[in-house]
Amino acid sequence: MAFIKINKENFFHNLSEFTKKTGSKESIAIVLKDNAYGHGLELMAKLSSEFGLTQAVVRTYNEAKKIKKYFKQILILGDRAIVDDSCSFVLNSLEDIEKAQIGSMVELKVDTGMHRNGIAMEEIEEALKGIEEKELILKGVMTHNRSADELSSELFWQQKNFEEVKKNVVSILSNKKIRFHSFNSASSLRLSCKNEDLIRLGIGAYGYSELPNIYDSLDLKPVLSLWAKRIATRQLKKGERVGYGGTFIAPKCMTISTYDLGYGDGWMRSNSFNSFIIAEGLPILGRVSMDYVILESNKDEVCIFNNALNAGKQLKTISYEITTQLHEKLERGEI
Ligand SMILES: *Cc1c(COP(=O)(O)O)cnc(C)c1O
Repeated sequence: MAFIKINKENFFHNLSEFTKKTGSKESIAIVLKDNAYGHGLELMAKLSSEFGLTQAVVRTYNEAKKIKKYFKQILILGDRAIVDDSCSFVLNSLEDIEKAQIGSMVELKVDTGMHRNGIAMEEIEEALKGIEEKELILKGVMTHNRSADELSSELFWQQKNFEEVKKNVVSILSNKKIRFHSFNSASSLRLSCKNEDLIRLGIGAYGYSELPNIYDSLDLKPVLSLWAKRIATRQLKKGERVGYGGTFIAPKCMTISTYDLGYGDGWMRSNSFNSFIIAEGLPILGRVSMDYVILESNKDEVCIFNNALNAGKQLKTISYEITTQLHEKLERGEI
């Protein structure tokens, strides 16, 4: 089966780059949601911990349970809050406060402009009251930026709103100590991180920035590469067609091989319509099948891509989608 190589050196390099910005490893929470953006939840948790990170972010409690042994603290973005000393749960709405188990540790998400999740800025007082009544332990207040990766001043008005949220929360809670956080990778690349209690670092740790080049403040290196193995090799005569629908017609005599990667592995079939050029410079010939692609090669192993940002540009999508869709069943190993 196709397989994934995880470059530990590049991962550690990226984490070091961000550590220089935050000034400490403790203020970085590595985002491991969705199978660590397709890189492999447990492998990336293990490597993060080996590097010295102590905090992680996932989507569900189930994910958290799998990686608990590697971290002191895990933030869970989208699951019902329950009591667990090492996990805090994001409250995305006032309803989430109702649903939370009494005594659970929570972080209140405030909507500062993205209008996806979080309570309205006007609901802060009501939410804090609900949290107290429900005897929830408030660990933090957070928000998420909608345009940190675009060339605009949007990020700045949202940060301003968050400053207002902070002031409001601090004045209501008086001397209770909680943490505030709003930075994802793009915000961390654009702004100083020195005063942040925590950054929630996703895509940057995996080696990508979707920001315009002028923000290339850190030297990031891709962590994941996708490989496929040769199944069978044959000779094509000029004019013979390849694959479903016979969409590729050999312009000359060719040596071609099938490789064991397909849309069943998370490599989109729509990729065949653009003739995706793999890392080795070869186009995928004809349509992508469920388990196979065809290339003009007879190598035993070929690298399909080693830079999801470039692969995403070819396919008119973002690096996040290219890696995240790679199926869990693919074997992942560090190099
Ligand atoms: C996914 C996610 C992040 C990480 O975003 P990147 O752009 O990958 O750094 C941070 N915070 C929240 C709430 C998220 O959902």
